[in-house]
Amino acid sequence: MKIHEYQARELLAKAGIAVPAARVVESAAEAAAAFNANAVPLQVVKAQVFAGGRGKAGFVKLVKSAAEAQAAADFMFKNRMVSVQTDPEGIAVKKVMVAAAVDIAHEYYMGLVLDRAKATVSVIASAEGGVEIETVAHQRPEAIIREALHPTLGLQGFAARRVAGRLGFTGRQASEVSQLLLKLAALYAQYDCSIVEINPLVLTKDGKVLAIDAKINFDDSALFRHPDILAMADPAEHDPLELRAAKASLNYIKLDGDIACLVNGAGLAMATMDVVQLNGGKPANFLDVGGGVKPEGAVEAFRILLSDSKVRGVLVNIFGGIARCDLIAEALIAAGREVGFKVPVVVRLEGTNVQAAREILAEARGELPTLQSAMDLNDAARKIVAATR
Ligand code: GDP
Ligand code: MG
Repeated sequence: MKIHEYQARELLAKAGIAVPAARVVESAAEAAAAFNANAVPLQVVKAQVFAGGRGKAGFVKLVKSAAEAQAAADFMFKNRMVSVQTDPEGIAVKKVMVAAAVDIAHEYYMGLVLDRAKATVSVIASAEGGVEIETVAHQRPEAIIREALHPTLGLQGFAARRVAGRLGFTGRQASEVSQLLLKLAALYAQYDCSIVEINPLVLTKDGKVLAIDAKINFDDSALFRHPDILAMADPAEHDPLELRAAKASLNYIKLDGDIACLVNGAGLAMATMDVVQLNGGKPANFLDVGGGVKPEGAVEAFRILLSDSKVRGVLVNIFGGIARCDLIAEALIAAGREVGFKVPVVVRLEGTNVQAAREILAEARGELPTLQSAMDLNDAARKIVAATR
């Protein structure tokens, strides 16, 4: 799960890391009011979206008056933000943050990320932080500092001091930065994060260390332990069909083809997409209804698939291991009655009670004329590709 920068800044502040004061607004007029309420001469207006690269895209603007704040916010609300981290269509901005700006002497990068290669969490840091960090990482990997955390002890004091030292900090500032990094590592563990990133962490001209941008992602599988984090979810930033699927415990990812796939099990879903492609089709989605698929789940899956106007046919590929094929067949027919199959639907069922399932599907053919059965996966892929041509 992702959260907005302003929410990440709140979590940093709670963990004892210094962040500049900020307000979040949903209209340009409110941005002007926020500027006046913040009551400092130099402020920064920042689009709140789930993507970085805002600075370069013109969605982080320094402003010196309420009128400038209003104009900057107005631009952000009226234009979609397109950056290296978004698709070419970009993202609509629904919220902007108006924050006290800081006088920057130097920008650093500081983060923690799940390091799969090392099977632990690693600190990633650089004295060359800021909007060019991706280029730095690419062209001069030696400028990126890595410090793997001890798998059970976490980030130890000496390791945090080593990172601060390698960033070039000395004396009081070095201990301040290593304390900050220890707090960041504690926050990472406390909330089961998958990434915590401060870019830039800045040293101000008067020697203060502050976080002025923050990104935090959470491990979805641990969210049940964090109702306070779940409450921060912003549905406006997600695809509505993906949200609906998540509510029904379906793993659904929209793709750009036109053949919808309803499959149980992630591995089978991957194989199904491959076989569809092999037969000249393009999958419209990845939908895994799970090994123990229930009739309600299958019906909701159909509602979701068929509400995507790009879908020209549906391929159902279910292996009845835990799920029973006859129950799945009944669920498919119930779904057909409820949502109406206006497009071809090809069904391949295999496993427990498959014979009974085939009889149920054969009987329903009069009622659901676009429904076809297939003998195996290749046959199913061929049929759905032919039916949607
Ligand atoms: P991102 O581009 O989405 O990562 O957005 P950031 O919040 O990191 O802002 C991008 C850049 O804008 C930073 O690297 C800074 O150079 C600049 N910036 C952001 N906030 C301030 C500020 O308060 N003062 C100054 N002088 N620059 C800022
Ligand atoms: Mg940034």
